Amino acid sequence: DAEELWKQVDQYITDRLIPADPILEEAQAANAAAGLPTIDVAPNQGKLLHLLARIAGAKKILEIGTLGGYSTTWLARALPEDGRLVTLEFDAKHAEVARKNIARAGLDKVVTVQLGAALDTLPVLVKEGAGPFDLIFIDADKKNLANYLAWSLKLSRKGTLILVDNVIRDGEVIDASSEDPNVQGARQLFDALKREPRLQATALQTIGSKGHDGFAMAVVVE
Ligand code: SAM
Repeated sequence: DAEELWKQVDQYITDRLIPADPILEEAQAANAAAGLPTIDVAPNQGKLLHLLARIAGAKKILEIGTLGGYSTTWLARALPEDGRLVTLEFDAKHAEVARKNIARAGLDKVVTVQLGAALDTLPVLVKEGAGPFDLIFIDADKKNLANYLAWSLKLSRKGTLILVDNVIRDGEVIDASSEDPNVQGARQLFDALKREPRLQATALQTIGSKGHDGFAMAVVVE
């Protein structure tokens, strides 16, 4: 069936373009052993994040939604030696597994895992003057996407790249009457992107090992 083909093509891409990586594989194994859900990005998506961070020349990255630190590792590896990545996670077990994975990847000097609900920790980052970030990856609970976008703008500068994962949701994003709070969260994000004059944005559908979904991308233009 179609989904099986998407998976096989993702595997084809990964086999050719993403070299075997014991650190990332250990992280995935540690996540599974700790019972974390496999809702991290796929390897070819992780590499896309990595490439985008390099293209952006990012020195400071913010991630909202750490899980076991899989996407964190892809992003942090794109940073220069003096780069920094702050990642926000609300589940203490996820944060603990992530910290171990990040240390095993030798990235604990670069990455800070901030425990707490992002709507509590984002205002602290603003207050501390932690921004502006060069790249922000939004990948936590989907009902708050528009809120996370608003906080991201406060932590941005002109040129900041904002990426938002899982905004297509099997195509359900077009269903205005959906009762799924994740779908409504994605719809609110699109409305917020449309309204926001400081952003230029687009979105792409993706198919692959993670099914039919997609991501939005925005650049701060003023
Ligand atoms: N970015 C990760 C990756 O690709 O490896 C996957 C992140 S997973 C899709 C979403 C994470 O956001 C989960 O670990 C979940 O516990 C966390 N989360 C959910 N609600 C949150 C909140 N309000 N604040 C911070 N993190 C939250």
